Amino acid sequence: MATTLSKIIENDQMQRILSEFTRLGDLCYLDNAGAALYPQSLPQRVNQDLLNNIYMNPHTDKYTKDCIEQIRCSILRHFNTDSSNYSVIFTSGTTQALKLVVESFQFAYEQNDVLNCGSFVYLRDNHTSVLGLRELATEKDADIIHICHDDFLKALNPEEVTPSMARREKYQNDGNTLLVYPAQSNFNGFKYPINCIQNIKDGCLNSYIKKQLCKVNCNWYVLLDAASYISTNKLDLSVNQPDFVCMSFYKIFGYPTGLGALLVKNSSAHVLNQKKYFGGGTVDIVLSNEDYHVKRKVLHERFEDGTLPFLSIIALKHCFDTLNELIPRIISEDLMDTISYHTFYLAKDLYKQLKQLEHRNGNKAAVFYMDSDFTDIKKQGSIVTFGLLREDGSHIGYSEFQHMADLFNISVRTGCFCNSGSCQRHLNATNKEMKDMYKAGHKCGDEIDLVNGRPTGAIRVSFGYYNTFKDVDKLILMICRCFVKTKQKKPSRTLKHVKHVESKQNFKYIESKVKKHHEETMKLLTKDYQNFDILQELSPFESEVTLKEIAIFPIKSCGAFKIKSSWKIGPKGFEYDREWMIIKDNGVCLTQKQNPRMCMIRPIIDLSKRLLVLNCQGMPPISIPLDQTYNEHKSATFCQSKVCTDIISGYDCGDEVADWVSNALEVSFLRLIRQSSDDTRAQKKKGEVDPKLLSLSNQAQYLLINKATVRWLSEKIQDPTFQDNTDELTDRFRGNLIIDMNQELAERDWHRVIIGKHEFKVEGQCARCQMVCIDQKTGEKTVEPLRTISEQFGGKLRFGIYLSYIGPVDGSKDRVMKLNSPIKPIINDDDISR
Ligand SMILES: *Cc1c(COP(=O)(O)O)cnc(C)c1O
Repeated sequence: MATTLSKIIENDQMQRILSEFTRLGDLCYLDNAGAALYPQSLPQRVNQDLLNNIYMNPHTDKYTKDCIEQIRCSILRHFNTDSSNYSVIFTSGTTQALKLVVESFQFAYEQNDVLNCGSFVYLRDNHTSVLGLRELATEKDADIIHICHDDFLKALNPEEVTPSMARREKYQNDGNTLLVYPAQSNFNGFKYPINCIQNIKDGCLNSYIKKQLCKVNCNWYVLLDAASYISTNKLDLSVNQPDFVCMSFYKIFGYPTGLGALLVKNSSAHVLNQKKYFGGGTVDIVLSNEDYHVKRKVLHERFEDGTLPFLSIIALKHCFDTLNELIPRIISEDLMDTISYHTFYLAKDLYKQLKQLEHRNGNKAAVFYMDSDFTDIKKQGSIVTFGLLREDGSHIGYSEFQHMADLFNISVRTGCFCNSGSCQRHLNATNKEMKDMYKAGHKCGDEIDLVNGRPTGAIRVSFGYYNTFKDVDKLILMICRCFVKTKQKKPSRTLKHVKHVESKQNFKYIESKVKKHHEETMKLLTKDYQNFDILQELSPFESEVTLKEIAIFPIKSCGAFKIKSSWKIGPKGFEYDREWMIIKDNGVCLTQKQNPRMCMIRPIIDLSKRLLVLNCQGMPPISIPLDQTYNEHKSATFCQSKVCTDIISGYDCGDEVADWVSNALEVSFLRLIRQSSDDTRAQKKKGEVDPKLLSLSNQAQYLLINKATVRWLSEKIQDPTFQDNTDELTDRFRGNLIIDMNQELAERDWHRVIIGKHEFKVEGQCARCQMVCIDQKTGEKTVEPLRTISEQFGGKLRFGIYLSYIGPVDGSKDRVMKLNSPIKPIINDDDISR
């Protein structure tokens, strides 16, 4: 049976659309409200155009200027209007368009006119970019007024407005009122009425204006924030005519970024007369030695300071063309209406499935942060915003959800989505509570998803025209596997039945062949490096707890090299630990998160031959000298890359190994980089006087894992498909120092620890990401152990402790760490014996 992809678009048409997005692979993109995705042929068309034509500065070249004028017409046509009604002012995006309106809006006709100072009115549920406008309005002495969601809807409701409401003539000396609200909420897709503009002008919101007491005319002007709405809806400016409309084009087309527009209704343009700044192209005359200039008469010429981003504007033509050709006109013979219905039904399907989701005890698994229930497409766009609950009713934090979504290759947005008004309203938090959360350490955009068990944000799923029911299923499947554990109810999609793809195959990264190869490699490893064992000594004193394993990870994110007897402690951690990294052709460091195969590269440090030897399935090993001299002026090129926001400098290890690594990971143009010895990346900690040098590890010099805690975790994992034994599970945590105590979780209370004769300071617990869900033998992704870690620690993804090296306790120069060394934890930090 064929799988239904859409309720609106037929399968073969949908397949044609999907063929423009093959680059997604198995990534499930559900953040259309963050940015749409561009179809693959779009950049190709733009490239062709740029290769075949010569575009010059439009101030120089009439042809380029004409092209731009054409595109202004296309924009107006897209919104079903023309230049006799609206003007297009290009901006860098919605945010700049919003600012432009308030900066140039005439609130008062005379300065210091307290009665007629004009008002700036906004809905509290606006995007943050709108809230910031009040700072500009305050500067212009306008009254600042905010209206809450419910009051706003009640006041706008057309039935409750008496049409006979006195419409007064405009008095020159009355102030002007600017109202800003979104056509669609970027928080949850609720559509605010846009057919009430006349009601607003007629005064249905007058009671909110303070000056109403003085019977002053309000002269309403409406600034419609259409950024979210137009991404999946038709805005018809022949029907509803706000005075100003702002937008960003990447929200419709996915490309180009940095380009938006302010549409101004020509009959309202006169109130935008306060623009101060002028730049290149916006004046008819300017004198450089006298305060004299005259701004241009044509509206957009007056507002577009500097040279337009003309190549981006040229690209816009292809955006319209591509979308027009790609999307069938099924609903009302209109492209955007078709997209609107297609995506609405996807969101509705998800909403219904989430609503049905129940835990084994019958408790609901989802809470919604919605303002409509998908019964009316006029009130709801293609966004679903929700939170998840555990079986006992407690909240699952959004960053926990985000980690699991990452693991399943699903892109969703979590947090408050730059809309604190809606977020606060739906999370039921008072201003004081919001401030308290901030004081408790929660900031916009951070990972603190719960404060005292209460969520600080939500999960937002939004659909674009390239999404299908398969995406809905993938998300629901992930939620069921990670959080709900009940069988999902099959959705009733009236067109055709959807066949479910069983998950196991989806997440199997590399076939079972790999396992066999791994065993062979391991055999080889033990054979070759047994000679290290002769160094092994007995521990100097008896202790039950000893160091069971030392591991280093010579190449960041690649396989472990397990030490047979002892290893040297260097200034940045264990010698050769994370000294190399693999970077992509854009200079960015590659990690296992993006490429799970990396764990299949198994480096060996051969100290006797002074070589780094790399092994990988099905490939001859390759070696590079440990003592390679990186002559800055000769062989190796100096380069820089970013590791966790730090700029790292290092040396390129040459073409041969670069090719080998590219082949092993099946990614072109990779390079192997060795951190330069004079790189001074240090552990970041507030107020620390003596920062510890770091290798390419993310956080600290050493990571310690207690095997007893791993055993404890292993017993908690209930997923029958998860078959790691304790050793395999331990390997996932990629610790440098593996100990085994009789007691689980004890290491969480330590302040310092002495291992053999070396003392370490505990820097804190290690925050875990989805990398622990990569089987280090095979590169295969699993849901565990992250799910159980999160469950056991109340959503906090922590496991293992970070250490930094203090020094040898006996004051000697000995820097060698031996296997089986005794462990002596120190719990009370007051005990400063050194
Ligand atoms: C995205 C968005 C904005 C901000 O757009 P920018 O492109 O970041 O300037 C403003 N309002 C709404 C409703 C949005 O969805």
